[in-house]
Amino acid sequence: MAEGRIIKALSGFYYVKSANKVYACKGRGVFRNQNITPLVGDFVLFDHTDEGEGYIQEIKPRKNELIRPSISNITQAIIVNAVCQPTFSPLLLDRFLVKVEAKQIEPLIIVTKKDLATDAELSVMNEYMKDYAALGYPIYFVALDKARDELNVINDHFKNEVTVLMGQSGVGKSTLLNVISSNLRIETGEISKSLGRGKHTTRHVELIQINEGLVADTPGFSSLEFATIEQEQLSDYFVEMKAIKHACKFRSCIHVKEPKCAVKNAVESGEIKQYRYDHYIQFLQEIIERKPRYSS
Ligand code: ZN
Repeated sequence: MAEGRIIKALSGFYYVKSANKVYACKGRGVFRNQNITPLVGDFVLFDHTDEGEGYIQEIKPRKNELIRPSISNITQAIIVNAVCQPTFSPLLLDRFLVKVEAKQIEPLIIVTKKDLATDAELSVMNEYMKDYAALGYPIYFVALDKARDELNVINDHFKNEVTVLMGQSGVGKSTLLNVISSNLRIETGEISKSLGRGKHTTRHVELIQINEGLVADTPGFSSLEFATIEQEQLSDYFVEMKAIKHACKFRSCIHVKEPKCAVKNAVESGEIKQYRYDHYIQFLQEIIERKPRYSS
C-alpha cells in the first residue's frame, strides 16, 4: 500500500498526492458504514493501479479538523484583518485567535488596506498590533493593490505548512487567495478553476501547493461560535493568561470572582490588556450560555 495525502475532494473522488503523483481514489465502503468521511488534508494509506486510480484503505489519526471547509491537519492560519472598510474589530480578531489556538493551529496576522486608511485609523491599528506582536504573533501589513509584491515577505511562512486563511468578510481574503494562487499558476502553468468564482459557488475544497507548503483554496471558520470549548479551557487560548494561570490560588479558577487570581491581578497591573480580558469575559459568558451571537 502507498501512503499519501488527500489534496482535493470532488464528485466522490479523493485526489491523493503521493511522491509528486496524484491518484484519483474512492473511499473504501467500510468508511461509509462507520460514518467516516475522508477529508482533504488527511494522510491515508491506499491501493492503486498503474492508471493512477485507487482505493483509500486507511485514514491516519488527525491532528485537528475544520467543518467548513472540511479539511484536516491544518498547521497554520492566516487571520486577515483590514485597517478600515470594515473597521478593525479586536473582538473578532480575538474570536479567531481563540478558535485557532483551541485547534493547535499557529496563527499569523495579516493587516490589509493600509493604503486606504486615514492616519488616525492606521495609528489605532498600529497600537493594537504592538499588543499582538508582544503576545508573540507574527504580523504583516499589506496594501491589497500591491499584494503581489508584499506577500513575498510571507512566502517562507508557507513552507511545510497547511495554511487556511480566515477573517471577517470584506477584509480581502479572496484577493489574497487569488494572488497566492496566481503565483502558483505562474509557477506551474496550472489553472485553478475553483478560484475567483466566489465562495458560495465553490463546491469542493482543494489544497494548492505554494512554496513547499499547502494552502486551502477556501477560507476557514465561517462559524464563529465556540461550540466545543469548555469554560475551564478558555483561558488556555489567551496566550498571556495561559502563561500565568498556574499562579491562581484555585486550580479550577476561571478568573472571574475567585480570590487571589493571577489573571485578574495582571489585568489590574496592566500586564494583561483590559480589552483582552473583556473579550475573555464575553466569550466565557457565551460558552456558559451557549447562545451563539455571530454567524456568517
Ligand atoms: Zn484565575
